[in-house]
Amino acid sequence: FDKLKEGLKKSREAFFNKIGQILKTRRFDRETRDEIEELLILADVGVEATEYILERLEEMKPEDAFGALKEILIEILSKDNKLNIPDEKPFVISMVGVNGSGKTTTCGKLAYMFRREGKQVVLGACDTFRAAAIDQLKIWAERSGATFIAHMEGADAGAVAYDAVNHAISKGKDVVILDTAGRLHNKKHLMDELQKVHRVVQKLVPAAPHEVLLVMDAVTGQNGLQQAKIFKEVVSVTGIVLTKLDGTAKGGIAIAIAKELGIPIKFIGVGEGIEDLKPFDAKDFVEALLA
Ligand code: GDP
Repeated sequence: FDKLKEGLKKSREAFFNKIGQILKTRRFDRETRDEIEELLILADVGVEATEYILERLEEMKPEDAFGALKEILIEILSKDNKLNIPDEKPFVISMVGVNGSGKTTTCGKLAYMFRREGKQVVLGACDTFRAAAIDQLKIWAERSGATFIAHMEGADAGAVAYDAVNHAISKGKDVVILDTAGRLHNKKHLMDELQKVHRVVQKLVPAAPHEVLLVMDAVTGQNGLQQAKIFKEVVSVTGIVLTKLDGTAKGGIAIAIAKELGIPIKFIGVGEGIEDLKPFDAKDFVEALLA
């Protein structure tokens, strides 16, 4: 919780402390409402979620508006926030998202998390467009103690995915994490690329990928939300990993994501280190934001 609190420091100091201060000390009248509205929008909570929160607060006519706000935020953020781990291994996770969002780093952090649980992990370098992405993933595989599966730059992403999953099956490994390409200049191209990877994987494990995690950079705020909507149209995203929360004052984007995308946040990134990925817990998140 301390690491989470530290990660949300900028958001707390810029906006949420003020919101808390106002709600704790004033009646929830018109003027208070307008001030809270402005702060929520500035914190990147988004218009839709902000209006919803204010309506709920008005309906409730709360004695304790601060406590009521926490409840409403927890309600918005509480979804199916845990990973859907299948009974049979391997558990196949496809990581998607635009370049620069923190996708490769998150693959490494996730691999490390599973390794710490004693699981055997395979990392598949399916972003074959960028040699640098392959090299980076290799470094993360070494750091986390995962098996690394890659082909040459420019190789077929589906073939890499097939090899990664096939390796996991033949060696009895627990988890496969696929780092996919994140080029967004053309929606059709993105769709073809991701669907190809998923189709190939399904030849080996029909229910795979069990999770499609969309990596989003919290710093990009509302822009990132627009990109996320495109990914959602292209593949069935099962969860969000919200990265770089430590680097932004606009941590309210988590609330906009939950309300507008309707996809559960499953992890948050609060730093560049291997341990800086935290499973998302709505209550802890809200307590840290409004601490
Ligand atoms: P990719 O292009 O999506 O694969 O992105 P990378 O994994 O290469 O990450 C891009 C940059 O973001 C790197 O410098 C990472 O160290 C940094 N990064 C990733 N996650 C976090 C995070 O949670 N917090 C911070 N501060 N930086 C992060």
